[in-house]
Amino acid sequence: MAPAQNPISSQHVVVIGAGAAGLVAARELSREGHTVVVLEREKEVGGLWIYSPKAESDPLSLDPTRSIVHSSVYESLRTNLPRECMGFTDFPFVPRFDDESRDSRRYPSHMEVLAYLQDFAREFNLEEMVRFEIEVVRVEPVNGKWRVWSKTSGGVSHDEIFDAVVVCSGHYTEPNVAHIPGIKSWPGKQIHSHNYRVPGPFENEVVVVIGNFASGADISRDIAKVAKEVHIASRASEFDTYEKLPVPRNNLWIHSEIDTAYEDGSIVFKNGKVVYADSIVYCTGYKYRFTFLETNGYMNIDENRVEHLYKHVFPPALSPGLSFVGLPSMVSLKQYLGVPSSSLTWFLSLSFFYQGIQFVMFEIQSKWVAAVLSRRVTLPTEDKMMEDISAWYASLDAVGIPKRYTHKLGKIQSEYLNWVAEECGCPLVEHWRNQQIVRGYQRLVSHPETYRDEWDDNDLMEEAYEDFARKKL
Ligand code: FAD
Repeated sequence: MAPAQNPISSQHVVVIGAGAAGLVAARELSREGHTVVVLEREKEVGGLWIYSPKAESDPLSLDPTRSIVHSSVYESLRTNLPRECMGFTDFPFVPRFDDESRDSRRYPSHMEVLAYLQDFAREFNLEEMVRFEIEVVRVEPVNGKWRVWSKTSGGVSHDEIFDAVVVCSGHYTEPNVAHIPGIKSWPGKQIHSHNYRVPGPFENEVVVVIGNFASGADISRDIAKVAKEVHIASRASEFDTYEKLPVPRNNLWIHSEIDTAYEDGSIVFKNGKVVYADSIVYCTGYKYRFTFLETNGYMNIDENRVEHLYKHVFPPALSPGLSFVGLPSMVSLKQYLGVPSSSLTWFLSLSFFYQGIQFVMFEIQSKWVAAVLSRRVTLPTEDKMMEDISAWYASLDAVGIPKRYTHKLGKIQSEYLNWVAEECGCPLVEHWRNQQIVRGYQRLVSHPETYRDEWDDNDLMEEAYEDFARKKL
């Protein structure tokens, strides 16, 4: 742990958002002795995990006047990580056999994750800190403090001064829609996965799903249950990729990316195949967006890189008053397993992306922010932080990782988390947690249709539960 150089100080901190990141940030900040207010746009805690059957009015979410639906969760969604490695370190995500309404599966449904987050909020009295149905509309630095403008659901505005702002507003709400040559004249329906809920509307259709990362892989299989044909377009696949995938209705294909769409309804893939499609579903990810931040041009988002953040958390010139919890996102399986694509099976060649450790990352980042704000831990000088950021960018350039992947950590996620943990003196990420992620994704590669229900890592599960028992959790 970095030595305490100053007396511990208590700050008045606002956390924006009461999803998994905001909840654990609120807990860590208050444990460290800060006074905390959480501002949350929704009526309840849980963020992304609050499923809404309602989607946005514009299926591609391009209309700036649309009213925003925060969640991107679809009805059939189950976690893509085993529950043991998803939970916070001192509040494990274990099955609740005492309540019949709960989902005890190892890879539970989205409702179970929401219930877990509600349990977490209750256990640590976090709702007391949350002001619901308050949307933050502007955040600006003022004389060393922060002015935060918000409005109620009834439109009443309010502003308040805080010592520090912790941004936990999530980053799976602003769709990234891939550009397809010729799409303007293509006559079919188009929707982004953000607005996908159920497969029903695609019954008997020919559907093209663009993207084969976490959502694309799930949604293509969900739609294949009712559609005539589903064709996945995968940018990560070789140009001649064309394979039928093993699903029960024998109606799912994977292709290389789309070359052009035409006004006769056809879609031509780079592999030369032509499909006459009724719908396109874009599973092409999300963009970082912080519409409320007013930093006089200091902070920008360039090609989905949030410029500039020390260790993805602190903007050097505005820290420690401004910080971000939860920015690093998915990691690629190839990055994680560290194997070249040529040696992968057909399925792995689809280049699955997955979540990596999320909730524990939020927890460790939050502990760091809390400790820095109380001055128990000090940050390097602004120049040193900028040097570190430049070195990170250079390391990405050196191996050809595009700017848009700046906040995807790949194989170094556990190294990163352990660095942050050491910085604030908290325990390192458990061995079993990292190993479960690797083994889970190896299963996903070899048994994509069953990996959530059949596993071969009971040893790691036992290790996790022994660890919970040892810590009396
Ligand atoms: P969110 O949960 O999005 O919470 C942000 C909160 O901020 C929301 O409550 C929102 O209302 C609020 N907010 C936003 N803007 C404002 C504002 N201006 N004013 C006030 N409040 C505001 N991770 C896993 O670990 N396992 C999984 O299986 C998994 N599956 C996923 C599946 C999908 C489809 C997606 C998109 C992501 C998945 N993730 C998964 C990653 C997931 O994002 C994280 O697990 C986590 O829940 C994100 O938490 P968060 O608090 O950062 O953001």
